[in-house]
Amino acid sequence: MNVLVVEDEMKMAALLRRGLSEQGLTVDVAGSGEEAVGMARSSAYDAVLLDVILPGIDGFETCRQMREEGIWSPVLMLTARGSLEDRVSGLDGGADDYLTKPFSFAELLARLRALVRRGQSERPSIIEVGELRLDPATREVWRGDTEIELSAKEFVLLETFMRRPGHVLTRSQLLDQAWEYDFEHRSNVIEVYIRYVRLKIDVPFGVKSIETVRGAGYRLRKDGGR
Ligand code: CA
Repeated sequence: MNVLVVEDEMKMAALLRRGLSEQGLTVDVAGSGEEAVGMARSSAYDAVLLDVILPGIDGFETCRQMREEGIWSPVLMLTARGSLEDRVSGLDGGADDYLTKPFSFAELLARLRALVRRGQSERPSIIEVGELRLDPATREVWRGDTEIELSAKEFVLLETFMRRPGHVLTRSQLLDQAWEYDFEHRSNVIEVYIRYVRLKIDVPFGVKSIETVRGAGYRLRKDGGR
């Protein structure tokens, strides 16, 4: 079993390397996310231990880039922060599990073995609604053959709709999904972002996909708009 440890703090990295080697694992260490992506590109690791706080790109971005490149080694994310927000962004970025520092080595090992037993992490499938396609793994969106650039928030909003086509989603459901860690809920934030999304996925194509349902909320047409 070979493991890639991504950690910039030398002491921690050395500790992990020694501990895991003692268990008979083969260990490589990367000191940055960029380096980790490069290493994972050239060797197939059974698991990646990925610290969140890194110089350069952080652990979430590292995980996202690996997934984008089609690297599906299971990722165990390590963080000192331990907040719900971290956990959610970690799993959104394609991490498979999450461990808060400080952790016991026994726990780390148990989680790691469980991940490896489960095998390659499953690539989330592309969601299609009519002509609209959305890839949660690479964060790409298309209408027909045209790729559409969305901001992170716009993407989450569209993904929320695309996971429930034809359903009316209330403003508070949308806020919960797309703005779960925002502090200030500006009352018109949903309207504003719906407008942005429509300007990108509908207007240039002369179609209407997100409908306003008066007094209730919004609905993505099951046919993806026409
Ligand atoms: Ca670190």
